[in-house]
Parts: sequence; C-alpha cells; structure tokens
Amino acid sequence: CGIVGAVSTRNIVPILVQGLQRLEYRGYDSCGVAVHASSLNAAPHGTPDGGLRRARSTARVAELLAQVQADHLEGATGIAHTRWATHGAPAVHNAHPHFSHGTGSDAATGQQAESDPARPGRVALVHNGIIENHEELRATLQARGYVFVSQTDTEVIAHLVDSHYSGDLFDAVRAAIAELHGAYAIAVIHKDEPHRVVGARAGSPLILGVGQDASEGALASREHFLASDAMALAGVTDQIVYLEEGDLVDLQLGRYWIVGKDGTALTPAQRPVRTVQ
Ligand code: GLU
Repeated sequence: CGIVGAVSTRNIVPILVQGLQRLEYRGYDSCGVAVHASSLNAAPHGTPDGGLRRARSTARVAELLAQVQADHLEGATGIAHTRWATHGAPAVHNAHPHFSHGTGSDAATGQQAESDPARPGRVALVHNGIIENHEELRATLQARGYVFVSQTDTEVIAHLVDSHYSGDLFDAVRAAIAELHGAYAIAVIHKDEPHRVVGARAGSPLILGVGQDASEGALASREHFLASDAMALAGVTDQIVYLEEGDLVDLQLGRYWIVGKDGTALTPAQRPVRTVQ
C-alpha cells in the first residue's frame, strides 16, 4: 500500500517510520522496515559486513517504531512498507519487507528467519500491487531451491532478484521485472551493496526525492529517497522527481539514475526535479 526508501549517511529509520505514519491514512493491515545494518558507519564504498535486518508488525506504525527502538535497528540505507494484503493473510510472516536467503544451505534454514528477526537476508524488498504470474514463478523458483516462507505474491520478486544477482542490484532488478506480469512499485536493497536502493514502477505510483548534502558541501554524500507518494517525504525534501510507467531507478549517495521502459537512460529534462508544496 505504501513505500518509503532512503540512501543517506545518517540513520534513516526515523525518516522511514515517519514516512509510513504519513501514509497511514490510506489504511493498512501490517507494516515493516528493513535496513542495511552496516551502511551507517561503513565508508560509502567500504566493505559491507552487517547485512540486512528488519522489523515487522501487524499493529500500528507506532508499535513498529517501539520495536525498532527496542531492537536498536539503525542504518543509513533502508526500505519500509505499509501492507494492504491481497495474497496471504495479514500476519507478520506475510508483512513486507520480504527477504531472499538464496538457495542451498542458506535457504534450507530460511524458515528460521521468521522466529529470528536478527537473521540477515541477502535481498530485502517491498512491493505495492499484484503479481499476476506469481504461482508459475513460485513453482520455477522452488524447483531451483528457493524456500518460500510467506503466502504473498511479493516473495517471488525477492527470490527472482536474488536469482538474477551477480554483483549489480540494478541489473538484477531489471532482469527480475522483465519476468513479472502485473502491477507493481518496488524498492529493493542487497546485503553486498550497503549504499544503494533500486526501485521500479509499473501500474503503481513511485516518486524519487532528492535530499540534502548529508555532510557539508559534499555532493557525493547527497541523500536520496523513494516513496509511493511525495507526502511521505514532507519535511524531509520538497525536491521530487515523478517516475513514469516502466521507469527503473537507481539511488546511491550523491547520484541517481533513471532508465525508461525502453532501456535507455533518461536525462534530467525528461524526468525533471520539481519543487512540491
Ligand atoms: N500483493 C502484495 C501483498 O499482498 C502487496 C499488497 C500491497 O500493495 O500492500 O503482500
């Protein structure tokens, strides 16, 4: 139902949770947030080590906030979601963000992820919309060794991204969405890329927010945001790029990149930054 994402050098969990609170009026049955735990103190291109952590709740966003504070969930890169269930009952294990733990021995213990919130994933993903061909994709991915722990249509996208990953999250998301039929806005992070969020939209809204320089004058540290609605970023940034159907967006520190549905990189003139009230 609602998406917020961020790449920064400061702890963005409060921004993500406040963003969800601004989207609460749309209604939801559960909510969650995932961060790259090593993004906060690692150098922008440093070696990742902390991996992905998450918190999810079937209560209000205020309860999620209490949970992230109790768990000391912090990170400079993260994604968050309010869910309005379409596939799979409202329950913590169906709440987003969804993880992929890959295949093999890692996936075999994937079931533990539900009871052990500290167990890191390889891919974390949030999704608005409906994937029409989720059953076929699920069967294909299961045959390749992926273990499913939810009843959602969304979990197939997390495993698809993992299956296409070979060192570049943008390329993996581009390959994954080529297999999807349906409506989606997604935001994705990967354990090996602590300062990157990749988003895509087809049939569900998604906007990019251009933030401030997180440290003085350093363009390379400019923070970037994603959201399903600019309202989620009120008080954070009023510099908004409205993504269009089929757009794929790559958010990093100090730079962002948008590719249109025909696969070509788009110029700032094609996707201008607008100041919203
Ligand atoms: N179809 C997804 C699910 O049921 C996403 C629902 C939403 O847009 O919140 O989990």
